[in-house]
Amino acid sequence: MTTETDSPSIFSRIIAREIPATILAETDRVIAFPDIAPKAPVHVLVVPKTEQYRNVVELAAGDPGLLAEMIEVADSLAAELTGGDFRLIFNTGQGAGQTVFHVHAHVLGGGLEEGSLG
Ligand code: 5GP
Repeated sequence: MTTETDSPSIFSRIIAREIPATILAETDRVIAFPDIAPKAPVHVLVVPKTEQYRNVVELAAGDPGLLAEMIEVADSLAAELTGGDFRLIFNTGQGAGQTVFHVHAHVLGGGLEEGSLG
């Protein structure tokens, strides 16, 4: 279990190639790889390379362009992997299920139940 004080974060260790992951997309500022415990047929994490923002609220306030870049990466991966449609989730805070306090988007797609948020 990670905590709010983990640094470098597990995702920074993936970005540094200290922990293996299949890199699906990478730009100067963003990286994407499959979630290790997928909750849908397609479950990708899109992560900014900086770990300075703990959640999407901090990111939106601090660097909205970086948030937009994450969404562009999510969109192009979904075009490749799900035919275009996808669900984007930012768990924000421990009570909402956030376990890694290095902001990341969950991109879910493929065989999602219609109307379901689960
Ligand atoms: P959160 O619960 O913070 O929104 O999402 C963290 C996600 O990171 C979880 O869905 C979890 O399965 C994923 N995760 C945790 N450790 C690793 C890892 O070492 N590699 C990968 N690919 N995903 C991880």
